[in-house]
Amino acid sequence: MKKLSILGATGSIGQNALSIVEKFPDRFSVAALTGKTNLELLARQIDRFSPDIAAVFDENGAAELKTLLPSGCRTEVIHGEEAYIAAATHPAVDMVVSAMVGGAGLLPTVAAINAKKDIALANKETLVMAGDLVMEKARENNVRILPVDSEHSAIFQCIAGNRRADLEKIFLTASGGPFLDRGKADFASITVEDALAHPTWQMGSKITIDSATMMNKGLEVIEAKHLFGVSHESIEVLIHPQSIIHSMVAFLDGTVIAQMGIPDMKGAIAHALAYPERLPIGVPLPDFPAIGNLSFRAPDLIKFQCLALAFNACESGGTLPAVLNAANEIAVSAFLARRIGFDQIPGVIKETMDLHVPVMSPALNDILAADRWARDATQNRIYKSKGKATA
Ligand code: NDP
Ligand code: MG
Repeated sequence: MKKLSILGATGSIGQNALSIVEKFPDRFSVAALTGKTNLELLARQIDRFSPDIAAVFDENGAAELKTLLPSGCRTEVIHGEEAYIAAATHPAVDMVVSAMVGGAGLLPTVAAINAKKDIALANKETLVMAGDLVMEKARENNVRILPVDSEHSAIFQCIAGNRRADLEKIFLTASGGPFLDRGKADFASITVEDALAHPTWQMGSKITIDSATMMNKGLEVIEAKHLFGVSHESIEVLIHPQSIIHSMVAFLDGTVIAQMGIPDMKGAIAHALAYPERLPIGVPLPDFPAIGNLSFRAPDLIKFQCLALAFNACESGGTLPAVLNAANEIAVSAFLARRIGFDQIPGVIKETMDLHVPVMSPALNDILAADRWARDATQNRIYKSKGKATA
């Protein structure tokens, strides 16, 4: 029986992970769950899975959650940053599913690694912000980081059984999002609703906007660099609108291995949870005759400037990727709050990146300081330019 802690249980990945736990009760149990605002769902999850602890963001949330739990519920409700750390380091836990969204996932994930828990990693921001440090800690603690991000799960599966020395290149596929064929001149008129309508994947709102700007693919390039220990030059982003090939790996002899499946995150989540076994999770095979064609094209870095910004941050390294990530989080929440336009997102991020003096080979404190600075700097500029309180 593998005991899990699910950080971000109320999110899209968290709910999918719990649906797998529910299907295989003889393999998995849940010792800790965390959420932030969706307390009704968290209460239902607690009732269903009886974790030892449930962690929420603040005292009010904890008080409200307690009122939603049935009398006699034995789950301990805790709150605050230390509570998330407690959920990530619970002594009974074998594997932590890191599925909070954004930079909030970094410290609990680092704590879980220090506590020698294996990690099923969905929170790509952890590796974007602190990839060198996190991979180093994982090595020191003999911790396995199993990718949940579908592209990275695909790459992991394509590499399996091959020598790392024979790897030549990674093709990181991208659906291209809802605006693949929209002219850049029209980007100013894109609404929040347009941007939240992803053509192939069902995800939380932040990553859905990141997919529309293609920042998501940029964050994934940085994630892949750290996870697989390759240089950014050996990662090529390839637009593949059908999202059937989740990524590919090329070897020295010209062979390319691709991993395929319908776009359903349960495949990658189950792979990470059960590795090296595979579970019959009920995801149907692709209907190839109905799909007909698999197509590919190069990304347009002029149209999708966020991707170009992420390439720059990846190449520079140091604290710049953490700044890119923080500025992006603020810009995306400002867009979702309708304070800035879709077309303004890359400019807002670039201005913050241009102001940053990167620290090279940063310690965790340098990364956290750069993250805080970038959030404040981005927020302040949005505030000034709009003349009203920010998101
Ligand atoms: P969601 O927005 O659906 O869920 C986010 C989860 O994190 C929720 O449980 C939310 O709680 C919690 N949360 C939000 N803010 C905080 C905070 N400040 N502190 C603590 N917890 C917080 O996101 P997704 O599930 O879509 O994505 C989660 C992560 O997985 C992201 O890093 C994303 O990039 C990555 N990922 C997601 C994929 C997907 O298909 N969804 C695919 C690949 C990677 P609540 O809802 O209760 O407020
Ligand atoms: Mg992905």
